[in-house]
Amino acid sequence: MGLPAWLVARDVGNVLAYTPLIRAGSARAREVALTFDDGPSIYTPQILHVLAQWHVPATFFVIGREAKAYPQFVRAEAQAGDEVGDHTETHAPMSALGPVGQRAQIVDAANAIRAAGAPSPKLWRPPYGLFNSTTISILRSLRMLMVMWTVDTSDYARPGVSRIAYTALSGARPGALILMHDGGGGRSTGRADSQAAPSARGRRAAGAAGLRVDRPATARGQLRPRRLPSP
Ligand SMILES: [Zn+2]
Repeated sequence: MGLPAWLVARDVGNVLAYTPLIRAGSARAREVALTFDDGPSIYTPQILHVLAQWHVPATFFVIGREAKAYPQFVRAEAQAGDEVGDHTETHAPMSALGPVGQRAQIVDAANAIRAAGAPSPKLWRPPYGLFNSTTISILRSLRMLMVMWTVDTSDYARPGVSRIAYTALSGARPGALILMHDGGGGRSTGRADSQAAPSARGRRAAGAAGLRVDRPATARGQLRPRRLPSP
C-alpha cells in the first residue's frame, strides 16, 4: 500500500494534513487514551502518582489560568512523560467568541503551558465540545490538532468512584478517548483512576498524543465533523 494503515498523532503535522480534529483513535490498535481536563489542581499529583504506579501514560488538557496557579503540576505532567494539551485560558465556550477572543483563549493557555516548563502544546480540546469554523482555522494556523472524546465519565457530577470507573471501563474499546477531570472543583476522579489505570494498562493505554488514528479513507465518518455547532 505504501502508506501505513494508521498514523501516530504524535506526528501532529501528518494528522493535520488530513483532518483538523480526531474524535476517536483507530479501532485496529488495541489502545485507549486517558485524558484529564480542567486542571491542574490540588488533585493532579494524586493522579500522576497512580499513573506512574501503573506506568500508564495520559494526556492532560489544562486550563491556562490553572496552569498559572499550579505551574509545578504542569511541569510534573511533562516530566512524567505525559502529554500536556491546551484547554483554553479560562474554559470559555469558543462558539460564543469571535476570532480575536478565540485565538487569545488558545494562545494564552499555550503560553502558560510553556511558561510552566512543558513543551508547546500541539493538542487542543474545546471546553464543552463547542467550536466552529473559526476555531478550525485558528487551530490550523497554529498547527494544533483538536482532540474530542468517545467516553464522558461525567465525573464532574460526582457520581461516585465506582460509577466513574464503570463508565470509563465499559467504554474502553480500542481507540477510545476517555474523558475525566483533574480540576474544576471537588473531583472523585483521582480515586476512580486508581481503579481505571490498572485495567487501562491491561488494554494498552496511550496518551492522546501516542494514540493511533485511522486515515480518513477508512474512518472519515469518525474523523470529520458532520456538522459544526452553530455559533
Ligand atoms: Zn473542560
